Amino acid sequence: MRLLFLGTGGYHPNERRHTAGIMLPELGILFDAGSSAFRVASHLATQQIDIFLTHAHLDHVQGLTYLLVPLARGQITHCRVHASPDTIAAVKEHLFSEPLFPVLPAFEFLPLTDQVAVANGQAIITHQPLHHPGGSVGYRLQVGDKKIAYITDTTVSHSYVDFVRGVDLLIHECYFPDAMADWAGKTGHSYTSQVASLASEARVTRMYLTHIDPQRSDDDPIGLATARAIFPETYLAEDLMELEI
Ligand SMILES: [Zn+2]
Ligand SMILES: [Zn+2]
Repeated sequence: MRLLFLGTGGYHPNERRHTAGIMLPELGILFDAGSSAFRVASHLATQQIDIFLTHAHLDHVQGLTYLLVPLARGQITHCRVHASPDTIAAVKEHLFSEPLFPVLPAFEFLPLTDQVAVANGQAIITHQPLHHPGGSVGYRLQVGDKKIAYITDTTVSHSYVDFVRGVDLLIHECYFPDAMADWAGKTGHSYTSQVASLASEARVTRMYLTHIDPQRSDDDPIGLATARAIFPETYLAEDLMELEI
């Protein structure tokens, strides 16, 4: 299956990265809808899409407003938005409050259940609470014998090691390099060596780091060598990078 990183930055876009978005075009699945969601329309391979939101922070949901046009034009005929009840309420009441954005696109909002089957039953998605101000959930996707986990936004915790254990691909946030570890604790985010240790402990096959500090637009914002010394199969995600899983 093909996976496309639509946006790999945290908090706000910069010249290199838009905010959170991961797309599996052939399955019609999207994780998060940050500023990168303007890219969805040009990568559609299905007319129906299922969006899974991790939480309601703007860098993960603002792009829901951008889907109004592809929905109105019929490029997308049905769009389900899956999220926790709190996230759904926040999006409906605040993002789509009349003074902010006066038209609620024709989304079907669905509160998360223990196990969600999408893409005609081909993909099974489960979720796990994370540690982040206001709450967040991580996702695990299984398609045939392939397993992917998407973990953002969060401080690293042993509470979800079993949830990501043994996946073929772990996509994990890494907002900060080790030199800014104190900021990770203060802001509810992760730093490099902590994330690499988690990947090693969970015995995942490979890991891509995303949700990068937007103050950094250089080639090595998180200290890849530090991560690889702990977990060699660590890579840095970039906007519009494609993976075959
Ligand atoms: Zn975020
Ligand atoms: Zn957040």
